[in-house]
Amino acid sequence: MSTWKLSEEEWKARLSPSEFQVLRLGGTEPPFVGEYTDTETEGVYSCRACGTELFRSTEKFHSHCGWPSFFSPADSDAVIVREDRSHGMVRTEVLCATCESHLGHVFAGEGYDTPTDLRYCINSICLTLDTSA
Ligand SMILES: [Zn+2]
Repeated sequence: MSTWKLSEEEWKARLSPSEFQVLRLGGTEPPFVGEYTDTETEGVYSCRACGTELFRSTEKFHSHCGWPSFFSPADSDAVIVREDRSHGMVRTEVLCATCESHLGHVFAGEGYDTPTDLRYCINSICLTLDTSA
């Protein structure tokens, strides 16, 4: 799997300012406003930064948390996780394995009625839904 190594300037040229803020600076979009929060359309969600397939609509569920939520990545190698101690919390950050862009966080053991009891809480702005796949 290739890893993208773009400079900050190259990323800024490629992404909108708000995409750059979340994907490259680890920001978070406001809850309940993302275009895919409650989307049930069938398709494949790809990384908006590099186009790698990350999640599928079949693993998406309604968490009511305000962001698109998935109980599993499409392929466990598609994302990487690392500990995030920012904002006075200990969370697990989710990143695209290909371009190492920030996607969101994953939470475990919340009691959701899903096969994994994991909630990959992903910013809409980090994803592109392809409905033709
Ligand atoms: Zn990516």
